[in-house]
Amino acid sequence: MMSKKLKIFLVISIIVSVAITGFSMTMLWVGVNGPYLNSQGELLSDWPNAVIYEVFVRSFYDSDGDGIGDLNGLTEKLDYLQDLGIEGLWLMPINPSPSYHKYDVTDYYDIDPEYGTLEDFNRLLTEAHNRGIKILMDLVVNHTSSQHPWFKDAYLSSESSYRDWYVWADAETNLLERGEWNQQVWHGFGENHYEGIFWEGMPDLNFDNPAVKKEIIQIADYWLEQGVDGFRLDAAKHIYSRDDQANVAWWQEFRQALDETNPDVFLVGEVWAEASVVAPYLQEGLNSAFDFDLSSKILASAKQESNAGAVSYLSRVREYVSTIDEEAIDSIFLTNHDMNRIMSELNGNVNQAKMAASLLLTLPGTPFIYYGEELGMEGKKPDEQIREPMLWYNAPTDTGQTTWEKARYNLDEKAISVESQLTDPDSLYNHYKRMIYLRRSNDVLINGEIETIGLTAPGLIGFKRLTPEEEVVVLHNMSVTPLELELTGDLAEFSEVLFENGLLELKSNSVGQVISINPYSTVILMPE
Ligand code: CA
Repeated sequence: MMSKKLKIFLVISIIVSVAITGFSMTMLWVGVNGPYLNSQGELLSDWPNAVIYEVFVRSFYDSDGDGIGDLNGLTEKLDYLQDLGIEGLWLMPINPSPSYHKYDVTDYYDIDPEYGTLEDFNRLLTEAHNRGIKILMDLVVNHTSSQHPWFKDAYLSSESSYRDWYVWADAETNLLERGEWNQQVWHGFGENHYEGIFWEGMPDLNFDNPAVKKEIIQIADYWLEQGVDGFRLDAAKHIYSRDDQANVAWWQEFRQALDETNPDVFLVGEVWAEASVVAPYLQEGLNSAFDFDLSSKILASAKQESNAGAVSYLSRVREYVSTIDEEAIDSIFLTNHDMNRIMSELNGNVNQAKMAASLLLTLPGTPFIYYGEELGMEGKKPDEQIREPMLWYNAPTDTGQTTWEKARYNLDEKAISVESQLTDPDSLYNHYKRMIYLRRSNDVLINGEIETIGLTAPGLIGFKRLTPEEEVVVLHNMSVTPLELELTGDLAEFSEVLFENGLLELKSNSVGQVISINPYSTVILMPE
């Protein structure tokens, strides 16, 4: 539940946002479907069943005019994130690193000077926590940078005390061995051939060495003591190449050790695999894993404007995972920093983008939003183009906008900036905000189980969300055509409207009710 302090802050922030944006915003939030607060006038919070936002700090907001986003810039924009309804941030790597993306770390105990200082980070933590926003750090420990002092020392001499921290080829090693993606895995020269499954600049750490495991736990403890609330674990299924059982055992050991420092630590892993492979990672190890399969099913549903099986898949997965660990959490999302942006996949179709968001934010799990997704930012690989500068303003300005790379997709004239969307009630941004507030105003949308309903129609994705106390029926018309449905049997009882953004008609007939839903709209019904 929300603290009193936060409640007061929220009320103030609503007043401030109304004052800034004027009458249209007031109308928006007190209209038929607003303002989406519960009976006590609060937004609900049940961490880690929370809405989390993935931030690429470099692209977010620049506080010192060098064009590179930084921690102080992010702190300046916490009000924006809080107002959107965000409850947690996943910060892509912030440790010192020679690369622009920083997934190759040279010092696990510091902040990259491009992003700021440890003091800046502590201020970010305090200011985020003051706003009810938790912070997850990206922990990249499958490998270090080849520039890390450990690796440089190990490479220089086979006598180095860090030599056994990495994986070296011996006479038996097949140096031409290819990895899971047919990539080269052995790099280096002569006596110094080392394993690096991602790239030669990322030598893999040797987790058969207890000293490495001890160090990694010490690193995580260090950041927990700074106040972070958890970690997103990069490449969690590659710690031991092709050995899921060994990986699971390691993450269990890691979790157990961290629990002693912070029993509420939240660990979400990147385990890019099917559910049967992911599930064991959630047994007393990771709290959560990203559901990549669901992401492609949501995308297909939005793109094909039809039911692509997201709900039946999710129901099966949740049932299966709960038999392994009933506390396990599904981290659900549309895209992340390794995938083409959803708006590009949808060829710029804003209606489809809205329906993808509506579906995501009415499903059970912990929804992650990739920065700029709420604006409909576009981008296709290569990676730099899916990580373009967040677009804050309509016109070029010297305040805050990051310019570390020239945008190829998100150009000012497309008018998708925060500035233009904040005041437009029909914008994608305001759609996201409404759906987040809707979720955070109804416990059943946060904590309810999901159940399929025996109702099919072209364009329809319908399901129930239910807790022991509450039950609602969610109906999404994903398509361009109006949808008419007969609600019979036990669905006939759901005759009250909890939410709608396109209800044409709801009337009773002899067998139940008939409902008509506008194109690209959602109706949520509850029992009378
Ligand atoms: Ca900067």
